[in-house]
Amino acid sequence: MTHIVVGLLLYSVLVKFGIFPNSQILIGLVALGALFPDIDHPKSYIAHLSIWLRASSRVVSLGGHRGITHTIWASLLAFPLALLVLRFFGLGFIEAGAFFLGYVSHLFADSLTVSGVAWFYPFDKHRVRGMIRTGSLFEVLVFVLTSILVLQVLGIPLPRI
Ligand SMILES: [Zn+2]
Repeated sequence: MTHIVVGLLLYSVLVKFGIFPNSQILIGLVALGALFPDIDHPKSYIAHLSIWLRASSRVVSLGGHRGITHTIWASLLAFPLALLVLRFFGLGFIEAGAFFLGYVSHLFADSLTVSGVAWFYPFDKHRVRGMIRTGSLFEVLVFVLTSILVLQVLGIPLPRI
């Protein structure tokens, strides 16, 4: 869930600056892109979405979690591949861009965690790391604060408790 929120925060900022139009399809694609890198984890949410994705998950997970799908190369491939698939649905560059945005936001978010991300794997195994522990209270805090930020940027009033 944190990944979707981080992706949507980036998206909402770009909408504010007029780079992306505000549309539900784009929101969905940012969310999908934000979940996609974890396809290398068979227990991930994305791997459970369809049989096809589960099969791909088995293949990619052989390289280990946060392996090849968590690299700059995979994110660069994400755009043309998304474009190829989205063409079948009559969608184009902006939609593929939204998927790409979600994908990259995932890698940035994972880079803030203790396990980190090896962006240039397998050429450079150095991992960019942060101090957030996945599933920790700190992650929840980041999640809540980011959610509030998203709502603020989108101009949606916070629910009153
Ligand atoms: Zn990840």
